[in-house]
Amino acid sequence: MSYLSNRINNLSESQTIKMAKLGRELAAKGIDVINLSFGEPDFNTPNDVKEAAKKAIDENYSYYTPVSGYPELRKAIAEKLKRENNLDYTFDQIVVSTGAKQSLANGVMCLVNPGDEVIVPTPYWVSYSEMIKLAEGESVFIDATVETEFKITAAQLEAAITPKSKLFMFSSPCNPTGSVYTHEELASLVEVFERYPNIYIISDEIYEHINFVDKHASIASFDSIKDRVILINGFSKAYSMTGWRVGYMAANKEIANACDKLQGQITSGTSSISQRAALAAYQSGLETVHQMRDEFRKRRDIVYKLLNEIPDVKVNLPEGAFYFFPEVKAYFNKSFNGTPITTAEELCLYLLNEANVSTVTGEAFGNADCIRISYAAAENELIEAVSRIKTALAKLV
Ligand code: PMP
Ligand code: GLU
Repeated sequence: MSYLSNRINNLSESQTIKMAKLGRELAAKGIDVINLSFGEPDFNTPNDVKEAAKKAIDENYSYYTPVSGYPELRKAIAEKLKRENNLDYTFDQIVVSTGAKQSLANGVMCLVNPGDEVIVPTPYWVSYSEMIKLAEGESVFIDATVETEFKITAAQLEAAITPKSKLFMFSSPCNPTGSVYTHEELASLVEVFERYPNIYIISDEIYEHINFVDKHASIASFDSIKDRVILINGFSKAYSMTGWRVGYMAANKEIANACDKLQGQITSGTSSISQRAALAAYQSGLETVHQMRDEFRKRRDIVYKLLNEIPDVKVNLPEGAFYFFPEVKAYFNKSFNGTPITTAEELCLYLLNEANVSTVTGEAFGNADCIRISYAAAENELIEAVSRIKTALAKLV
């Protein structure tokens, strides 16, 4: 019997973090590992953002901040939501947190009672199901496959709804599939939500700017349900600021106040220096953001072509984010030197040890037939990595 709480015993370890850790351990032994497991931009934080942080230190931004963030940052976020997304929020509807991860967890903790159902389209981002578990909610998964570009339909959504449904949680652009819901597709989901006024919606829009198709569509732009939407965004992906730990939610005031109360007991406001840096990011325009997006698009096209050349790997063309989520189940039940590989997790470990490429099992994202490949790496590394994967897969018989 473990002395640790059931809460922690029932929680799964984050597979993205685990695979990145295993990759680093191999690299520390001098092995040339290509890390395609961790989803973080491989670009540096823009210079003006870095300068703002240095200035903040000199200007003694070193005290506790308001729990929900500096008012000037919350105002800049509200202005950004108006300017870029045409969404009306007042600054007191914004709660700044220690990354979008904390914003997501805040939303789940503030809305879900034990036994409440949370509807989650699969594949979903790895931490959603575990946050729901921590809140003692029940995840109700809706399966979407590579055949439907990993998107769900309104009919699927409606079929998943029960009297216990409390929350719907999704990301678009999606981690891990790169799928992007269009305004029309969101409208068809909204029609369903209009008929179920007790369901709230967490809309994770952290990959908003890594979108290769249309202008970003937010489900918060539908007035009929906006009050029930908890919009999540942050600075990690758009401004290459993963380590700075700044994310936020925009929600109705009751939810925003609830998150302020929760955060006030758990973390308080996120780092003062990082908040000043985030403010500079939103004052700096979108030029570097678009350069990074264009670079990701180039890499996507390269990796897409190469993955398509691997036999029995089924892949869609992702429209956003920086991941591929290929279906690799044709390789299950094959063996390497007599050792069978039966699951996506075993396949990922095989690829790590044999090809020295780290990827993440699809099981962690709710689809055990796939693996996730992040293409947030240099072009030459990506070409080498996919070539190694191809060679390693060909050795399975
Ligand atoms: N949502 C999704 C879909 C993500 O991929 C990430 C990145 N890990 C996050 C949220 C959390 O981002 P942050 O670094 O802002 O906590
Ligand atoms: N967004 C990244 C990923 O999905 C970061 C890892 C994490 O925060 O779990 O790989």
